[in-house]
Amino acid sequence: MDSGVQTSLNPFEIAQRQLDEAAKRLDLDPGLHELLRWPLREFHVRIPVRMDDGSVKVFPGYRVQYNWARGPCKGGIRFHPEETVDTVRALAAWMTWKTAVVDLPLGGGKGGVVCNPKELSTRELERVSRGYIRAIGPYLGPDVDVPAPDVYTNPQVMAWMLDEYETMVGRRAPGVITGKPLPLGGSAGRGDATARGGMYCAREAGKVLGIDLRGAPAAIQGYGNAGQFAHALGEELLGLKVVAVSDSQGGIYNPNGLPSKDVIAHKDRTGTVKGFPGAKTITNAELLELDVVALFPAALENQITGANASRIKARIVAELANGPTTPEADVVLHKNGVHVIPDFLCNAGGVTVSYFEQVQNAYNFYWTVDEVNARLDAKMTTAFHAVHKSATEHKVHNRLGAYLVAVQRVAEAVRLRGWA
Ligand code: NAD
Repeated sequence: MDSGVQTSLNPFEIAQRQLDEAAKRLDLDPGLHELLRWPLREFHVRIPVRMDDGSVKVFPGYRVQYNWARGPCKGGIRFHPEETVDTVRALAAWMTWKTAVVDLPLGGGKGGVVCNPKELSTRELERVSRGYIRAIGPYLGPDVDVPAPDVYTNPQVMAWMLDEYETMVGRRAPGVITGKPLPLGGSAGRGDATARGGMYCAREAGKVLGIDLRGAPAAIQGYGNAGQFAHALGEELLGLKVVAVSDSQGGIYNPNGLPSKDVIAHKDRTGTVKGFPGAKTITNAELLELDVVALFPAALENQITGANASRIKARIVAELANGPTTPEADVVLHKNGVHVIPDFLCNAGGVTVSYFEQVQNAYNFYWTVDEVNARLDAKMTTAFHAVHKSATEHKVHNRLGAYLVAVQRVAEAVRLRGWA
């Protein structure tokens, strides 16, 4: 593929192109391939919300249930002003491959509301959250489709959504949603699970590449749930020296390292990482191209593209964000020997502990954080090596290696059900 050619950055088209490549290699039956290219079902809703000033605003919302051959659909809900149905479709497709690559008995789904939580009061945010469940709730359930947090949604939003759902069905149903606060049936270890799973993968990548990560410089793009925990756990678990971090307002760089505790406190106090004492201000684009050993994209899609991939210097790109790298960039990174840990493997820690949360809800019996982390480590390590083996045996980049593992598993379930 020519990296200079301008191709679409529509995330769903990218997701389909990624699948197409895997389908070709797996020689998938055309009917089965076509089935896997599209969501099985999707909902488009309008959510009327009474604003604090008495006016009514109508927010568009989506829920995409991509595939449930291996189990109930599973996937987060995003609140974002630029949310589109194609972003939600792409994310739902990636959830399908993600649950399959870590071998969870789940399918893939995703949801979103087009809104800007930064411009909503807490009460308005609660009404949007409850309104979303009133619209989508009839099509959710612990054995149907199970949402979770994603960009700009958090455990409090999950708590409102759970409460609305349980009010609608008239009984307790904690397994309908994950990422809940602990007192409402959340799991120990869910908060940092995405970043933790990514760190377990980065640790394994260091081993297979023969790179000592202790003291190695690292950069993190995005400073929300995934990014902040990546910073703290990168230090704690791998001994990384994080030299740069960023958020939507820009980034900071200090070659001597940025201590996570202080940067997180600064972000909590000021709302941004910018202005952190002793650090130089850099742009998000500059952060990606820093001379670091490990780069963690932890913000949004399409950050590493055909335009900047050749300037990425990191040896390991551990994709905590969904869809940060375009197919053109994948080819360039592979050619340049950059080890990409693809998103749907690297950030699968979140859905893995969400699955553990559901299991605990079903048993009404809860595990310690050490039990959760040990089980997460085992799942992520097994998945990392399955993908590494697949990529090595097929002589393809890791993303395609991961697709080959995941698509094969979903295809097998679809065939067994007799759908194609
Ligand atoms: P979040 O809302 O907690 O944080 C998002 C962060 O990204 C914020 O710091 C924001 O300032 C920053 N950001 C937004 N636009 C940016 C831009 N243009 N450049 C740089 N930074 C920007 O979200 P999150 O939960 O941390 O999710 C981040 C990514 O990780 C998303 O792609 C999400 O899908 C993925 N992810 C999250 C989880 C999870 O459990 N939280 C699980 C799997 C994948």
